[in-house]
Amino acid sequence: MIDGLTQVPNRRRFDECLRTEWERGMRDGDPISLIIFDVDFFKPYNDTYGHQAGDDCLKAIAGTIESYCRRVPDLAARYGGEEFTVILLNTDIEGALNLAETIRARVRALEIRHERSSVDDYVTVSAGVACMVPAGETSVEALIKLADDALYDAKSKGRNVCLSLQEA
Ligand code: GH3
Ligand code: MG
Ligand code: MG
Repeated sequence: MIDGLTQVPNRRRFDECLRTEWERGMRDGDPISLIIFDVDFFKPYNDTYGHQAGDDCLKAIAGTIESYCRRVPDLAARYGGEEFTVILLNTDIEGALNLAETIRARVRALEIRHERSSVDDYVTVSAGVACMVPAGETSVEALIKLADDALYDAKSKGRNVCLSLQEA
């Protein structure tokens, strides 16, 4: 349940947690917010500094994200590759976007040199944020897709930015 490289919960733990909390939300009517972070220009980072440096970078970012998710109902996880997720219970879209923005700024403040990033001199992340009240006509998959679409928009806007999308 723990990712070997970064020592934060892994994808399996994330999937289980989100499904459990979705069921709970269906009963209680509480919103669930989701943040997906993706490291910007990480392929050129690996190509420039090497895979080991890339691994160290992922560890530092995972530690930063997790340090902001210590509230008991929150879960930070490695979603895969250079992507991380945060599940926030009982948190609206503004609260989730605020946290995403705080973490984005903290990652930038690590000042990990990235001479081949087009957006900054240091390693940055982009984030997509979404929020839903679990209900019959929505789904966990729809929540993930919404956050993923928001992340895509953040990348299109130039990266090193957090964007949110609301349920249509
Ligand atoms: P973008 O700003 O659009 O996100 O570009 P990107 O270069 O970050 O995206 P891309 O998907 O092209 O590259 C992701 C890179 O992440 C490629 C892969 O080698 C690297 N990566 C994924 N997992 C690991 C890992 O565990 N360790 C290291 N060092 N690199 C990894
Ligand atoms: Mg990616
Ligand atoms: Mg990336």
